[in-house]
Amino acid sequence: MTRRILQTNSYFDGTELHANGPYQILIEDGVIQGILDGNPDVLPPDFKNADIPVEQAGFVMPGLVEAHCHLFLDGGELDLKKRSNYMKVSKAEMAVVARQNVQTNLATGITLIRDAGDRWGVNHQMRQEMAESDDLVPEIRSPGIGIRKPKRYGGFMGREVETSDEIVTAINDILETGDELKVLLTGIIDFETGTVKGAPQFDVEETKLIVETAHELGRRTFAHCSGLAGLEVAAEAGLDSVEHGFFMTRDVLEVLAEKQIAWVPTFSPVYCQWAEPDNIGWDETSVGHLREILDGHFEHVKMAVDMGVPVVVGSDSGSYGVPHGQAVIDEIKFFLEAGISLEKALNAATSLPRRLWAETEVDIKPGNPVELIGLAATPFENNAAPWQPSWVMMGDEFQTL
Ligand SMILES: [Zn+2]
Repeated sequence: MTRRILQTNSYFDGTELHANGPYQILIEDGVIQGILDGNPDVLPPDFKNADIPVEQAGFVMPGLVEAHCHLFLDGGELDLKKRSNYMKVSKAEMAVVARQNVQTNLATGITLIRDAGDRWGVNHQMRQEMAESDDLVPEIRSPGIGIRKPKRYGGFMGREVETSDEIVTAINDILETGDELKVLLTGIIDFETGTVKGAPQFDVEETKLIVETAHELGRRTFAHCSGLAGLEVAAEAGLDSVEHGFFMTRDVLEVLAEKQIAWVPTFSPVYCQWAEPDNIGWDETSVGHLREILDGHFEHVKMAVDMGVPVVVGSDSGSYGVPHGQAVIDEIKFFLEAGISLEKALNAATSLPRRLWAETEVDIKPGNPVELIGLAATPFENNAAPWQPSWVMMGDEFQTL
């Protein structure tokens, strides 16, 4: 029997802030036994032993979730030539980068990571390595490789499929090992014109077949999707999650709300290009498009939350200019900038994605397993302060950060 007591001034349970501390969170064998006020006299006899370790924090919350990243990519690498050469290195070299990225996520307080695709399977390798690790490490959900149409966007993360038969065969292959199915539904944004290149890769009928095939295998689908044409396909076909979703509209949001389709808006990859246009060399027209796209995104993300769409925090870290770990904190701040409350933003980065993905609930409640981080001070008093968790706890393992 291992026991531990966490003493904290306040905590966020996954949905709500509890700010009238101090509190004592009692843990036994990696499970939350109870949450009491700060008075040592109220401790049950089992927890009165002076040998029981006591950890302090100003603020405690469930471990963060990164809902969209590419573990094999270093988002901090800004040299386009180096980035393109990197695509030719060995899988073993990519795994070195990915392992570092997993550790960076952990240091930021991220305990559950959903990778969003790579065609080498570095993501699957990380999932396995972390599952087998004796150390305290994040859990990884991995789709392996995604699907895309021949010669369309997504070469680094998608297998080419053309006919209905090929679609069904590929999905059956991929989901032998994939936790979810990644779909490359559209192209990427052309910032020079401020539009998404080309028609959606899959039409409504094909997308319905994709969703149905994955669902028959008990798996969710998540789609790279930006631009109105693609968003309309995603909404009508009932994909489980829209990733990026730039050029969103109220009409599409109504369908997402009705069907409870998730949206992972990934502000970061567009925001960083707007904030530092010289890195790529964007001219004034393109910078104007970037700003317009961001303005629309802020507006629609807020609208989506108000309409009851399950909006989830994910950063697309690994993408150009989007560093692992910190980008999740940036995304939370973009939610705040959109006018969303910190409680809702943190819910979108903890409890909500775990529920959508049917992962174990780790909200701070008696009976739930421990997957917690501690910070020196509450972000509810100063959300502009640098984000630095001081410890992480998973099960009965405790680690200072
Ligand atoms: Zn991505």
